[in-house]
Amino acid sequence: MIPPQFTYFAPTTLHEALTLLRHYGSEAKLLSGGQSLIPLMKLRLATPAYLIDINRIPGLDRLHESNGFLHIGALIREADLERSELVRTQYPIVRDTARVIGDPLVRNLATVGGNLAHADPANDHPATLLALEAEVVATGLDGERTVPVAEFFTDFFTTALRPDEILTEIRIPAPIAGSGGAYIKLERKVGDFAIVGVAAQVTINTMGICTRAGIGLTNVAPIPLKVHTAEAFLQGQHLDQDSITHAAQLAAEAARPEADLRGSIAYKRDMVRVLTSRALTRALERASGPTA
Ligand SMILES: Cc1cc2nc3c(=O)[nH]c(=O)nc-3n(C[C@H](O)[C@H](O)[C@H](O)COP(=O)(O)OP(=O)(O)OC[C@H]3O[C@@H](n4cnc5c(N)ncnc54)[C@H](O)[C@@H]3O)c2cc1C
Repeated sequence: MIPPQFTYFAPTTLHEALTLLRHYGSEAKLLSGGQSLIPLMKLRLATPAYLIDINRIPGLDRLHESNGFLHIGALIREADLERSELVRTQYPIVRDTARVIGDPLVRNLATVGGNLAHADPANDHPATLLALEAEVVATGLDGERTVPVAEFFTDFFTTALRPDEILTEIRIPAPIAGSGGAYIKLERKVGDFAIVGVAAQVTINTMGICTRAGIGLTNVAPIPLKVHTAEAFLQGQHLDQDSITHAAQLAAEAARPEADLRGSIAYKRDMVRVLTSRALTRALERASGPTA
């Protein structure tokens, strides 16, 4: 299908984009990679009168580590994450996530900022960023504020972003020694959205005791889920097969999947259990040795 007519803006500064956004309000939509918005417009499920293309705004495409954080600019593409040596060596869970999103054509355009702002519970980055306790930077004409990812997803396809704000950056705390993480996704075929996805990030001390655990789930609730019960249980535990098995069971109990063409409730819940166990095991391997 062909989208309805719209007026297109291509601002070259953040201030210009924010001014347009405030002026046109709910009639406007921001355009990043277009991989979610354009299909919706073609199906006429989204009919914005004004499109504000933020791709020409300098500075939103930076990927760097500073002040104890990995900074991911809103316009960083999935392919940038896949190719980054910094991400491969220091944040392998982020690379795990980027490389299972759609296909190479999608990943060349789709942005991390758009992935979060769109707030599709089937999107993969939210679970990983929940596990990593990341935060997003929301910028408006009145300044910027940071929102923990754990407070960012407020409802189905809904975020804490105000209508006149742009998500400008994602900040991930740099992992301390003894940390490792992994994202594992079950899909019907390569390139599909997740039946279930699980992100796990752990930190262990020299005795093998878990001092921090983060677990996020994809597509098993109206919003991405952070599994507080399993995280709290793991803290202080020796991270081994027994504790991992129990944490995986807690994650399965926390999931709130719905039956659809990807599977029944019981199947999805059990896949949460299986994938949580695998993600924690992989996270532990990475925390214990060189990242892979
Ligand atoms: C064939 C296909 C397969 C896919 N498979 C997967 C998958 O397996 N896993 C997955 O996670 N995703 C998947 N996607 C979705 C893809 O990752 C999307 O591109 C992503 O969710 C949105 O990013 P975008 O840059 O394309 O955003 P856009 O489509 O440009 O925008 C999406 C929404 O977010 C808003 N927005 C965008 N950027 C910002 C910003 N910086 N600040 C505020 N609001 C903003 C827009 O206004 C719009 O409402 C797939 C897409 C396609 C087409």
